[in-house]
Amino acid sequence: MTDKNLRIGVFVCDCGSNIAGTVDTEAVREYAAGLPGVVAAVRNKYTCADPGQVQIQLSIREHNLNRIVVASCSPATYEVIFRNCIAGAGLNPYLLEMANIREHCSWVTPGNGQAATEKAKRIVKVAVARAQWLIPQEEEQISVTDAALVVGGGVAGIQSALDLADSGHQVYLVEKEPSIGGIMAQLDKVYPDIECSI
Ligand code: SF4
Repeated sequence: MTDKNLRIGVFVCDCGSNIAGTVDTEAVREYAAGLPGVVAAVRNKYTCADPGQVQIQLSIREHNLNRIVVASCSPATYEVIFRNCIAGAGLNPYLLEMANIREHCSWVTPGNGQAATEKAKRIVKVAVARAQWLIPQEEEQISVTDAALVVGGGVAGIQSALDLADSGHQVYLVEKEPSIGGIMAQLDKVYPDIECSI
């Protein structure tokens, strides 16, 4: 997609005082509104809550948005929710980019609102730049063999094989040497109990 077709919406979250207590979220919203390709920039108190999600969906329809940037928390927290949210408004769920201005910004820059705000702007700027390269993705289900191959019978390989087996998967452990144990097996004593390594 070329730049002239981009219609990016940026949604800046206060997270109550979690973000807005440190970051000047209104300044971040204003900054985002001026970034290339951005046609809508909105600030919400709690973007993941129902009113925040409804606002995203309304904005998608009102501004014909084709890329969404949510500036809020870690994607590990609510990325799936926001993917479902934009899908509900007819957008491919993978046309979403998240800018983490909470864990990566407000939470680690306490007591310095100016620095946090400037950092949040840069995080959002990068997310908006990344968003222009997003392309629609289609999910596909394929059958797989429920088995795992672990290469290397050292301590890490053995533990991985045991963990996989405990999870109910068939495991093949491959070791090039005649015995397993790796370097660990060559030690006669190990810390902290000074016991035999084998
Ligand atoms: S989207 Fe994340 S940062 Fe925003 S209110 Fe929800 S938990 Fe807080």
